[in-house]
Amino acid sequence: MHTIDLRSDTVSQPTPTMRNAMAVAQVGDDVYGEDPTVNRLQALAAEMTGKEAALFVPSGTMCNLIAILSHCQRGDEYVVGQQAHTYKYEGGGAAVLGGVQPQPLDFEADGTLDFVEIKAAIKPADAHFARTRLLCLENTQAGKVLPLGYQAQAAEFARENGLALHLDGARAFNAAVAQGVPIEEITRHYDSASLCLSKGLGAPVGSVLVGPKAFIETAHRWRKVCGGGMRQAGIIAEAGYVALGYQVERLAMDHGTARRLAEGLAEIEEINIDLESVQTNMVFVDCDPRRHEPLKAYLKERGILVGGYGSIRMVTHIDILPLDIPKVVDAFKEFFASQNG
Ligand SMILES: *Cc1c(COP(=O)(O)O)cnc(C)c1O
Repeated sequence: MHTIDLRSDTVSQPTPTMRNAMAVAQVGDDVYGEDPTVNRLQALAAEMTGKEAALFVPSGTMCNLIAILSHCQRGDEYVVGQQAHTYKYEGGGAAVLGGVQPQPLDFEADGTLDFVEIKAAIKPADAHFARTRLLCLENTQAGKVLPLGYQAQAAEFARENGLALHLDGARAFNAAVAQGVPIEEITRHYDSASLCLSKGLGAPVGSVLVGPKAFIETAHRWRKVCGGGMRQAGIIAEAGYVALGYQVERLAMDHGTARRLAEGLAEIEEINIDLESVQTNMVFVDCDPRRHEPLKAYLKERGILVGGYGSIRMVTHIDILPLDIPKVVDAFKEFFASQNG
C-alpha cells in the first residue's frame, strides 16, 4: 500500500535526479574549505538571496542557533514568536548554549509580530535588564506567508531600534513561490536568514544560513563550536544544489494540492478549517479534541499519516500525488460518518 504521509514535508524523499547527482558529486574536506560542491551550493544560495555569503549547515535548528549566537552575546536577548520554532521547538538552544535569553511574544493571526508589542518588550539600557539585540521572524509561519510590506517595515523598525533582524525561513521558498517573487524579495529585508533544503525542496539533509561576509565568518566559527564542521559534505550539498536549482518552482504544486485538500475537508461538518490560513503547503484542521487520537488511528489504518501537536496538521510535498487528495478527504468523511452512526 502507498502510504500517504502528510505529517511533514520533511518526509519527502530525494528524487532519482538528486540521488544520481549525489553519487557523482565532487568532494573535498570542507573543514579545510576544500569541498567544491559545498562551495558551489553556498555561492548559489548567496546569489539567489542577494547576500554576500552563505554557510551550509546540517539542520535548520543549528542554522538558527548559530545565527542567534552570531548576532548576540551572553546576557543579550532576542524577541521571537511564542509559537516560533526558534523559541519553542529548538530545545532552548540559544539559552542553553549561548546564555541568550528569548523574549517571546504572541504571533498575530497572520503570523506577524506587532511592532507596538515589540517596542514595549525592548529593554532600556539598565543593569537590571538583558540587552535586546535581535528580532527573529518566521516565514512561512504555520504555512502563512508574511506580507512583503510587513517585512520591509520590520527592517525599518529593527534599524530604528538598534536590533538585528533574522529570518527563520525554513519554508521561505514556499512564501516566495506563493507570492510569485524571487526569494531575494524576502531575504533583502533581513540581516540574516536560515533556509531549509530538506523540507519542500526535497533534499535529504541540510540548511543554508545567508548574510554578510563577516557575519557568515562568525557563524562558521559557531558551526564548528557546535560540532557542525563536516568533511566530504559535498555528497549532501549536491542534493541541496539540485533542490535550489530545480525544485523551487515545483512548490507551487504542493500549494495547489494543499488547497484542494483544505477545500475538500471544509465540506465536512465536524471539521473547522480556516481556509484563509491555507496559503502554502500546510493544512490545519480543528475538530473535537476527543476525536483527534481515534481519527489519527483510523487514518493510519488506511495508510494516511497526519501530524500536529494538539491539532491536526497536514503538509503536502513532492511525494503527495494529486490522486491522494480525494482518498484523504474520503477517509475523513468515512471516519466522521462512522462516529455518528
Ligand atoms: C523545520 C523547521 C526548522 C528547522 O528544523 P530542522 O528539523 O532542525 O531542520 C526551523 N524553523 C521552522 C519554522 C521549521 O519548520
